[in-house]
Amino acid sequence: MFKKILIANRGEIACRVIKTARRMGIATVAVYSDADRDALHVEMADEAVHIGPATAAESYLVADKIIAACKQTGAEAVHPGYGFLSERASFCEALEKEGIVFIGPKPKAIMAMGDKIESKKFANAAEVSTVPGYLGVIEDASHAEKIAAEIGYPVMIKASAGGGGKGMRIAWNEAEVRDGFDRARSEAKSSFGDDRVFIEKYVVEPRHIEIQVLADAHGNVVYLGERECSIQRRNQKVAEEAPSPFLDTKTRTAMGEQSVALARAVEYQSAGTVEFIVDRDRNFYFLEMNTRLQVEHPVTELVTGIDLVEQMIRVAAGERLPFAQSDIKLNGWAVESRLYAEDPYRNFLPSIGRLTRYRPPAEGKSASAIVRNDTGVFEGAEISMYYDPMIAKLCTWAPTRLEAIEAMGEALDGFVVDGIEHNVPFLAALMKHPRWREGRLSTGFIAEEYPDGFAPVAPNAGQEALLAAVALSASLIEANRRERFADRLRPPSGASREEWTVRLGDSYVDARLVDGLVTIPFDMDIEIGGKTFNVVTDWRPGDAVWRGNVAGQSVVAQIRPILNGLRLDWQGISLKAKVLTQRHAELERLMPVKLPPDTSKLLLCPMPGLVVSIAVVEGQEVKAGETLAVVEAMKMENVLRAERDLVVSKINAKPGESLAVDAVILEFA
Ligand code: ADP
Ligand code: ADP
Ligand code: MG
Repeated sequence: MFKKILIANRGEIACRVIKTARRMGIATVAVYSDADRDALHVEMADEAVHIGPATAAESYLVADKIIAACKQTGAEAVHPGYGFLSERASFCEALEKEGIVFIGPKPKAIMAMGDKIESKKFANAAEVSTVPGYLGVIEDASHAEKIAAEIGYPVMIKASAGGGGKGMRIAWNEAEVRDGFDRARSEAKSSFGDDRVFIEKYVVEPRHIEIQVLADAHGNVVYLGERECSIQRRNQKVAEEAPSPFLDTKTRTAMGEQSVALARAVEYQSAGTVEFIVDRDRNFYFLEMNTRLQVEHPVTELVTGIDLVEQMIRVAAGERLPFAQSDIKLNGWAVESRLYAEDPYRNFLPSIGRLTRYRPPAEGKSASAIVRNDTGVFEGAEISMYYDPMIAKLCTWAPTRLEAIEAMGEALDGFVVDGIEHNVPFLAALMKHPRWREGRLSTGFIAEEYPDGFAPVAPNAGQEALLAAVALSASLIEANRRERFADRLRPPSGASREEWTVRLGDSYVDARLVDGLVTIPFDMDIEIGGKTFNVVTDWRPGDAVWRGNVAGQSVVAQIRPILNGLRLDWQGISLKAKVLTQRHAELERLMPVKLPPDTSKLLLCPMPGLVVSIAVVEGQEVKAGETLAVVEAMKMENVLRAERDLVVSKINAKPGESLAVDAVILEFA
């Protein structure tokens, strides 16, 4: 076995590999860029080597720097994680030349599977079911049209060298094929430096289901069941689970066996993933093979009990797989949520900054579930613009799917992240979404269920009553503390100490304390809407997470002090709360409502960014859908279009100018 390995990656995956290596008694070497001097993976590793500037192209992507770091530290092998150099055959070859082991497959397998056209040919030869389509390079738009007509609409146009959901277009007719071909080709050229494009059938109502395979250098290949990753945004995974709620044993076995056949055909070794698209009749088609550890691998580990990184290291060291196919048993259910630094309320635009608070839920086994959080950050760390916006992967395991989802909901509700925008509210809302809970998924789920984007979930009457009880308890606990320190701040004379009104957003909820005395720890009956709720909590002023019981239901909610009240976050609901005496509530209802400013005649900058171009001039008439301006943020160009027909009256920004969020770019007449 190796004595020392180097991890050619950063963030959560570097930390995750280090954990397993440490458990196996292997010393670890981290590499880091300027932006990662204080990163968690650097602190966790036994040694760390600086490899250059923040830009990945000058640090994490430079094979020579990684090899030099191995030589400097005596690392015998390199784990590449995912992304960066993990699927570069030339990197494995360079390592081999230096006598350093690549913890992954052989260059030949990476090459064969790295190209979508080539890998489809391979898959066909191995009798793996592939998406019907044309297995050659499309020459031009007319050729694309002819092929699309043969395949039958809808079709998908894809970059052969593509990855990360880029260079892909759906086309429903001839015009879209022509346009899609041009755009897929230019995107492929600029993103991958390779403009080969092919066409296949677009599978309608598709589900993304993938098979984990594991192979050693002695010809043993097994599959470790599937993961379903149908919850995607722009072809990028957001939440995953194992097993899939859609597969029956017959389909699972067929997919598993075909995946093993493909792995054998490319003499695969190490961990790999064969991705399939599955239609509503459970026909499945090969999409691609990822020749590396997959982001969502923890859900497989949770249901199989196998540490995939450990097996990768053992296989790379020449060991045989310690199990056969018949030893692999799937146990229970696991769900993963990807926590991204992005703003769910602003079309998931990336967000950067310092994590002023980062308090993940407790990991480990409880009576009903297991919580695992793979993370690469810590409180006080900076989320920079240089790398992936993923901050953590939160996983839960339980005997059944619904229990795992419930555990995930609770873990998300207790996950405190401040200082940046993040998608926890979206994920928390997803866990309560009936269609997700029923397992009726497709890769179109997010687009179909949130056509206008995500907004905080509106509470129903029961949820309002519960949140009112939580807010009231917090207020009473705070008042109790104040009174213990100073005998002032009693309710105004004459006001009842039993009758209260909780304002939640725009609604008012009346509440009565059944047994008037506040005790600490808090345990009180509160009457709301004719029902009595027993509220028990050990919440203390200053705690960001309220844990307790309301009418027998366990509740984990977040409470943040804001001006004149609290903000509550629970299950994707986000509300301002204010506890008032009934007299105050009466008066507050009479207050004029402050209307938000009318912004319908303005084009606002949706995120902090740089103006790339302004497409209009003052006085110009513009039709709905036409481009008004292009703003760049975090290396992504965002095209701002007219939402309706309008006339431009004033231009307030110039190309090259950097704007704050909500800065006025244009005014309309
Ligand atoms: P990438 O290399 O970018 O991961 P994939 O080929 O794996 O590309 O496709 C990414 C996603 O795009 C899939 O998970 C699926 O949601 C969608 N997709 C790809 N091909 C098809 C297809 N033929 N029909 C329907 N959806 C598809
Ligand atoms: P506002 O728009 O009033 O500032 P947001 O709902 O956008 O309030 O939230 C502000 C911050 O609070 C977010 O950036 C995030 O860090 C945190 N936050 C919001 N909802 C949750 C939640 N459900 N769980 C954890 N943190 C949350
Ligand atoms: Mg893929």
